[in-house]
Amino acid sequence: MNDDSDIPQAHARDAMTAWSYAMSLDGAGPERRAATLKTVLAFFDCDTDRVERAAAACRARSDGEAEDLGWAAAAALLEEALAHLRAAEATDEAGRAQFMEQLHQQLHPDPQPYTWPDRSDRRRTWPRRLLHHARLQWQHTAPYGTDAGPRLLLLRLGATTIGKLDYQVCMECQRGYVRRLDVDDRYRGLGLGARAIRAAQRRHRGLQWRTTPHYPTAGTFWTTVSGHDGGFQADADWPCPHMPETR
Ligand SMILES: [Zn+2]
Repeated sequence: MNDDSDIPQAHARDAMTAWSYAMSLDGAGPERRAATLKTVLAFFDCDTDRVERAAAACRARSDGEAEDLGWAAAAALLEEALAHLRAAEATDEAGRAQFMEQLHQQLHPDPQPYTWPDRSDRRRTWPRRLLHHARLQWQHTAPYGTDAGPRLLLLRLGATTIGKLDYQVCMECQRGYVRRLDVDDRYRGLGLGARAIRAAQRRHRGLQWRTTPHYPTAGTFWTTVSGHDGGFQADADWPCPHMPETR
């Protein structure tokens, strides 16, 4: 596993964006690939340096993995974007402006004024389609000890575990209790934690869910997930008496 601490956040986000575009191309024909490539170029503002840095971040992630998790495909997509920029001599400021204008005409042939998308508005949640392409799967483990004992919901991407929800349920008290939720740094901000909670809630319907008051995640996360059935009760924490506290 690579240490990502030296890759600035912005490059990491760019790499993640390239990765999700690459995943969406699984099984795509040449036309869709060409169209996606244009979208990628527009997303990166035809900025050669920025594409290079994102490609380097993807390659760094790809190198350390025993299994290909799509980073090699993301790097390849960015290399293809770079080849386009270089072929169009869009590597200096004037060339870049001209290339962006051409790209704009191709992506938006109508005479409507066009504004480049504001990246800060981009919602960081994955469409179902991408989750499918990413081979993301839930894996439930049996409770440890008694039925109310700790159980795990693993988020698996291919053969790799990228997240873990550690929780307990008590049918007698109709209570669900979240002990801990971890998502790999590289996959944060994509709504996977909330999806994990919902997956547990779907498996055990109708329960009241709680978590520990010392939970390290920011309050906004629980506000988001408590909009659903069996929302979290902020002022009623701790497990019920039937739940063994340790594994
Ligand atoms: Zn109980």
